[in-house]
Amino acid sequence: MIDLRSDTVTRPSAAMLQAMVAAPLGDDVMGDDPTVIRLQEAVAARAGKEAGLFFPSGTQSNLGALMAHCGRGDEYLVGQLAHTYKYEGGGAAVLGSIQPQPIEHAEDGTLPLEKLAAALKPADDAHFARTRLLALENTFHGKLIPAAYVQAATDWARRHGLATHLDGARVFNASVASGLPLAQLCQPFDTVSICFSKGLGAPVGSVLAGSAELIARAHRWRKMLGGGLRQAGVLAAACLYALEHNVERLAEDHSNARLLAEGLRGIAGVRVLSQDTNMVFAEFEPARCEALTAALAAEGILMRAVYGGPTRLVTHLDVSADDVRRVVQAVARHLA
Ligand SMILES: *Cc1c(COP(=O)(O)O)cnc(C)c1O
Repeated sequence: MIDLRSDTVTRPSAAMLQAMVAAPLGDDVMGDDPTVIRLQEAVAARAGKEAGLFFPSGTQSNLGALMAHCGRGDEYLVGQLAHTYKYEGGGAAVLGSIQPQPIEHAEDGTLPLEKLAAALKPADDAHFARTRLLALENTFHGKLIPAAYVQAATDWARRHGLATHLDGARVFNASVASGLPLAQLCQPFDTVSICFSKGLGAPVGSVLAGSAELIARAHRWRKMLGGGLRQAGVLAAACLYALEHNVERLAEDHSNARLLAEGLRGIAGVRVLSQDTNMVFAEFEPARCEALTAALAAEGILMRAVYGGPTRLVTHLDVSADDVRRVVQAVARHLA
């Protein structure tokens, strides 16, 4: 099976499962699971932050952070297509009583400063929610958000008294692709959420990193959201294994995505729209999408060619360069 639908589909390797079996455990709600503590400290150190907090999912980690920064009737500025806004069930509004103010992205995925400025609400005016936070995402749909932009946007936020959060679900991809250390990418933000269940290959888990004070607030919300887990070290062990073994190899996913984009570019009926880090976006001849998806699935290749829209193909540690060549050949054969 070659599954290009997402980098969340990776299965824990035998060595990762072994690390999970061997992990010393405690009770993380009581705060004494040694493996969870080790993971939180390791991620905080890599991210250049004071403290870390293990969450069962990136959705909950982002929500815990939003709720640590914002109270009822506060507002956060966020991309129209950002995960925290569009793909997390509206949790900020529903569970956090936080009003999202979505901002239209520029072509490169950034949120233009003039649009942020136009959305900022005047303080001390009861007509408006209180703008409290700017949330960015890196990578965004695979794209690296330029460091100069991040600096300018977070400087702007601080000048206006806003806190800053990074949805860094794939910030390790950004680090490996840019060559910049993780701490440097996280430095402009008060809090950063990092996923271990994407390209890093763990079955479950995200870590939120930030100041001890913000992490203490997020810890309270995590409990309320149902994210307090007991022998969580069995999961944290997988994340520690990923941190130690699966970060540098993300470069392979990026080169496999390049290989995939190059291969697809040579096929009539396919239009490659973009390739960034481990993601390829392509359009397939609309009339052939359904048949192509079915034909590929029949030979063990999972991707969902979207009728009339961009299809996302994602490389990860269970996709090899040979797999990519097989996919390109199969697509060419079925579209011939
Ligand atoms: C996957 C992802 C998350 C978190 O998703 P979960 O499935 O809840 O772990 C957050 N942000 C981005 C950009 C993501 O891709």
